[in-house]
Parts: sequence; C-alpha cells; structure tokens
Amino acid sequence: MRKPQKENRCALSKTEVDLIIEHAHQLITAKGFTQRPAGGPEMEELGIINDGAVAILNERIVAASKTDDVLSKYDAGKRIDAADNIVTPGFIDAHTHFVFAGSRESELEQKIKGASYLEILRKGGGILRTVRDTRAASKEDLLQTCRERAKSLLVHGTTTIEAKSGYGLSLQDEIKSLEVINSLNNEGPLTLIPTFLGAHAIPPEFDGRGGEYIDLIITGWLPKITERHIAHFCDVFCEKGVFEIDESRRLLLAGKRVGLMPRVHADELYSLGGAELAAEVGAISADHLLYASDLGVERMKQAGVIATLLPAAPLTLMLDRYADARKFIAYGVPVALGSDLSPSCWIEDEQLVIALACYKLKMTPAEAIMAATINAAHSIQNAQEIGSIEIGKKADITILNAKDYRFLGYRLGGNMVDTVIKNGRVVVDDGHLA
Ligand SMILES: [Zn+2]
Repeated sequence: MRKPQKENRCALSKTEVDLIIEHAHQLITAKGFTQRPAGGPEMEELGIINDGAVAILNERIVAASKTDDVLSKYDAGKRIDAADNIVTPGFIDAHTHFVFAGSRESELEQKIKGASYLEILRKGGGILRTVRDTRAASKEDLLQTCRERAKSLLVHGTTTIEAKSGYGLSLQDEIKSLEVINSLNNEGPLTLIPTFLGAHAIPPEFDGRGGEYIDLIITGWLPKITERHIAHFCDVFCEKGVFEIDESRRLLLAGKRVGLMPRVHADELYSLGGAELAAEVGAISADHLLYASDLGVERMKQAGVIATLLPAAPLTLMLDRYADARKFIAYGVPVALGSDLSPSCWIEDEQLVIALACYKLKMTPAEAIMAATINAAHSIQNAQEIGSIEIGKKADITILNAKDYRFLGYRLGGNMVDTVIKNGRVVVDDGHLA
C-alpha cells in the first residue's frame, strides 16, 4: 500500500473525521441491500466506485463516494491511500463451529481411505471426539484457543462471524461454549453472533435416544440458555440418523417460542426435507443444502429463507457433490456464504471460501463477494449495522492487495489482506495484527 501524501489543508469548510480511506482503485460498497438481501441478478450488483473513498467518524461510515467528493468535504489526521487496492466490506462468515478444543488431523487419512462422515461418527470419532476434548477443556483454555483463532480470522479479513456451540452436548458444556463466544465478542475486535447448537449430535449418554435428548433440550436447557441471554439463534443438525425432521421441527419451534431465531443444517447428506422445514418454521437461514429438493428451494424462496452455502464442507468431506448455487440464484433465493470452520473443515480464510464458491459452486466473483458480505449479514440478522459500505453503518472494512475485485475468487491461497478496519479502528495493518 502506498503512503498517503500530505496535501494542503483547507480546514475551513471541511469536517474533521477519524479516518479516511482514499483513492481506492475499486471501492466495493455492496450498497442498496440493507432492507432485504440481494437475490437473483442483484447478487452481482457490487456497487463499485472507482477511485472511491470512505470517511469514518466514531466507528461509523459518514461518507462513501468518489475520492474528490469525499476530500472536498472531509479531512482526517489519519488517511489510508488505497490506490493499489480493492476495498470491501469486512467479510462476514455466516456459519462457523468456532468453539472447539483439540483437532482431528488423523481423520484425514481415514477419509482418504474412503471412510464417510457418518461412518467416522458411528465409530466414536468425528464430532464425538471433539465433544470429549471440548468437555475436558476448561473455560479459560477454550477461551484462549478461540482467542488465537479469532486473530487468524481477522488477519484474513473477516470482521464478523456466526459462532455455534455444539461440542458440549451437556447443559454445562453448551453454556461454557456459549459463554466463550460471548466473552470473546465482548473483548473484540471480532464480532461473534452466538448460536445454540445443542442438537449437533446425539451425545453418547443418549445413544439411540435422540428424541429424548431433544425433549431434554426443550424442557431443561432452553430456559437456562435464554435466561442467560447467551444465544441469538437455535440450530439443529437435521440429518438422517441424527435428528430427523420431526425432532428438528420440535426443537426449532420451541427455540423460536423463547426468542431464538431458527437456522438449520439442512439436506447436507440426504434429501430429508430440511429446506422445506426451514421454510415451514420461518428459519432465517438453511445451510449446506447439497440435496435440497426443488420443492424445498421453492418454499425457501416463498418464506424468505437465505441459503447459506458452505463449499469447504463437501471439499473436506471429499464429496463429489456440491450445493447447486445456480439453482438457488435462479429461483431468487438469496445466497450467503460460510466457512463451516470446525475440526472437520478447518478453514479460517473467507477469501478461500469465496474462491471455492467460484470454482465449485459456479458462483461469479461478484455473487460470491455479495454472499460473503451483505447477504451474510442478513443471514445473521445484522444487515442494519454491517455488510456494506454505506453511510451510517459500522466501519468494518477490508483492504486487499489487488486492483480488481475478481482476484477474490480467482486467487487460491495466499492472503491478499493488507488492512482490516473494525468499528473504525485499524486492527490489521500491512497484513499483521495492529
Ligand atoms: Zn455446520
């Protein structure tokens, strides 16, 4: 990035702000979709301003337009010259299993030898192994692990994530996980939106009794979680052999009654009717959707459910099948993107998620960028505050070392992030934590 040049100041008629990003080669605003997510052809409307500038005051964007226009009205002691850069809204990762202890590198070899996800799970591996590790970790250890993980996300340009519990699977350990998410959110700078995913797997104590486990969550856990105000969403792993449609419906409706907005792991491995269920219960988002039926996609469109697609998930499961993003876009269902960051799919880089969306889901770079910014903001019900570069929004901005937005998608691996601004403050500078 070039250093800004000193200019003669004419302070008389100019408003002093905290920070100005100027001369952005391409300022990608994603503007115009705060009230509703972009769908269909709108998903390519990046709202690019060539030679754009952003003025920031008190954590918020006060101007975003041509550099000449912004500099005629605003001045700042701190200015960033982005002439060699694209400037985007901070990336939003709409689906992460952020809180986990341990790792599962040994399962890679099992996968290579052909073991399926559900086979590994049935042998006590997969989620259940991470459950053991996460239960054994103290809250402080888990917090420290997640703190380091949050730094990595920031360095890769992500400023907000949806973060699920789901490796505790006991009331105490689910609360521990949600408290870690809330603590980290309070620490900043990364924003974490907490999702209760107690129904991520059937815990060993309830083997063969998934329905009883759901009953316990509904009657015993939901009240304790809602009284603590530690979760925003309630999610379920709705999948054949895990939580069936009826069980998932009961849980999501019970969660909704106590104020937890539903989101669903839907139709990832089988066409179970998860997309239809998401529409029926009024979920904000249905996620994965590799096997969503046409009827399910139609119902999602009618009910306004966002399709949060996770292209790294089938990649790491070594599946040949990916979600049919083109179908969702053709039906006008807004698409958001998430990493599915978890011990099974350890990916902390939203740039790579965007590239996988292009190469594996056949989304265009513009669609993938919209899906990773404003539509992801809608998927986590935060679009009034973040997801685009518009006046009044929080100044969450990522500056990348590229001159064309299509480098997002095109380039695989290698971190293009130069600067990350979170709540108006530079938190990553020259690729490193500030
Ligand atoms: Zn997931």
